[in-house]
Amino acid sequence: MTDHINLEIVTPEKIVARESAQIVMAPGINGEFGVLHGHTPFLTTLKVGILHYKDIKGTERFVFINGGFAEALPDKVTILTESAERRRDIDLNRAKQAFNRAQDRLNNQKENIDYTRAKASMLRAIHRIKIAESKSL
Ligand code: ATP
Repeated sequence: MTDHINLEIVTPEKIVARESAQIVMAPGINGEFGVLHGHTPFLTTLKVGILHYKDIKGTERFVFINGGFAEALPDKVTILTESAERRRDIDLNRAKQAFNRAQDRLNNQKENIDYTRAKASMLRAIHRIKIAESKSL
């Protein structure tokens, strides 16, 4: 057990995960990074994307994370993010609707739209759809 790390994923609404993991892979602002037990402490900002980890049984788990911050300590990784969902909690239809809304906005030249906001929304939807449609857990 001592070789595991405690993973905590926290949003303003709730604790999405609090679990022991063998390895945690997260989308850092400068690229994906992995954390194993004993890692040198560091702090980084995160991109919108997919965090995945191996639970103590060795099962690969996937979680959508909406950017934020990661703090890695030798025995713990804490993720603070605006929103996050485990694969099983992702509503695929909702994500597809969000994708379609963002796409309509980006395609509509007449409307005075906020492109940055629409693109960010589309990016969240793409990652959620990718996780929900994957065969992983
Ligand atoms: P939407 O446009 O569908 O609201 P969003 O990307 O704007 O999506 P967020 O602001 O990231 O949504 O999240 C708001 C809340 O809704 C959070 O609690 C988040 O976990 C939840 N949420 C958003 N999309 C989904 C989804 N497809 N499945 C499950 N929960 C979701």
